[in-house]
Amino acid sequence: MFRAENQSEIMFENSLEYARKCDASDALASFRKRFHIPKSASGEPFVYLCGNSLGLQPKAASEYIQKELRDWSSLGVEGHTEAEHPWLPYHEFLSVNMAKIVGAKPSEVVIMNTLTTNLHLMMVTFFRPTKSRYKIVIESDAFPSDKYAVESQLKFHDIDPKDGLILWKPRKGEELCRFEDLELIMKEHGDSIALLMIGSTNYYTGQSFPLKKIVELGHKHNTKVGFDLAHGVGNIQPNLHASGADFAVWCTYKYLNSGPGSLGGCFVHERHADDKDLKRFAGWWGHNKETRFNMRHEFDALSGAEGWQLSNPPILSMAAIRASLDTFAEAGFDNLRKKSVTLTGFLEFLIDDLKDDRISIITPRNPDERGCQLSIQVKSADKSLHTKLTEAGVISDWREPDVIRVAPAPLYNSYEDVFHFATRLKDTLD
Ligand SMILES: *Cc1c(COP(=O)(O)O)cnc(C)c1O
Repeated sequence: MFRAENQSEIMFENSLEYARKCDASDALASFRKRFHIPKSASGEPFVYLCGNSLGLQPKAASEYIQKELRDWSSLGVEGHTEAEHPWLPYHEFLSVNMAKIVGAKPSEVVIMNTLTTNLHLMMVTFFRPTKSRYKIVIESDAFPSDKYAVESQLKFHDIDPKDGLILWKPRKGEELCRFEDLELIMKEHGDSIALLMIGSTNYYTGQSFPLKKIVELGHKHNTKVGFDLAHGVGNIQPNLHASGADFAVWCTYKYLNSGPGSLGGCFVHERHADDKDLKRFAGWWGHNKETRFNMRHEFDALSGAEGWQLSNPPILSMAAIRASLDTFAEAGFDNLRKKSVTLTGFLEFLIDDLKDDRISIITPRNPDERGCQLSIQVKSADKSLHTKLTEAGVISDWREPDVIRVAPAPLYNSYEDVFHFATRLKDTLD
């Protein structure tokens, strides 16, 4: 028995019986049945802990997509207005449920494009460098696509990234970024920084940053603040509206289970909703709905995040997103997050209980500073460890040089999954 720090009421036990007891009393346990769980060649379901990379398929996705295919076959172009869920306003059917998951108002969010595209569109608007204020801060181990996007925006404005890009780094010998160090960066360079662009939850370490504090810090220095929620959305509650962030972007195929390469999401804070002077790259889907089809009007931006849309969106992808968001709404995000804290707490307890000196968890110990993912560093391990785990029926994620990332998703992972993972990790290490 063990009392986890910060989880004062929870007493975990290291046994399969205990894991099954937790599943039996989990009010969200039945949601697992609504997902396709991949199986190994022998027909055993995998212990799938890779929802941070690609979420599993909700069984409902197929139905939702089939419905649009049927409407397309029977209605043709008329489906834009006559389908049960008409395609013209289809993105609007996603806004309410999407907004709940990121803690925003429906008018502040829109599903469109993909993550990196949205990041560029947001930087077109919110990264407006001047001679004296032209730098961007990102966390040092940002996801490669974010780094490329930010560097290319700097170069686009003829700024050398060596001068224009500031990295918020962990201290020597540490893995996690400290907020105090971001404060120091702002203190030293605040006048020259135009944008703070931070991943809400780091893809590698699993560290979640204090979004509201970062926004307050940035705004105090007149810096715009945006977040990449790729690993945050559907995982932690970012409370975007209350955080005051200028913008945020995310994808929907990780924790939001919307299918490989599916569309991304975008948040623009309400205070920018009607600011038509904001520079943007425009397209007809961002134009006033009343006159969109008159075709000969000057661009007249829609209010809110919708005003940044470019194109009419792929309905089949959106149907899968709608299936997923309906499932989230039914489960309730707060309930999911609560389960997630316990489920990951159980995982942490079991890993600690292996009492193996080679293993350390680099993700923060405090549940408020992480989502469901734990990044496990295994001293002197190489990728063969990951291969062996896969052979043992565990789908996890390997990051060079020596980190296994596992992310029990509260919608479809069970306590039993977590228990099996720990047992198989131990067997593999032995
Ligand atoms: C997954 C991920 C991406 C992927 O970007 P796409 O444009 O959807 O391919 C980008 N940034 C972060 C932080 C990610 O985790």
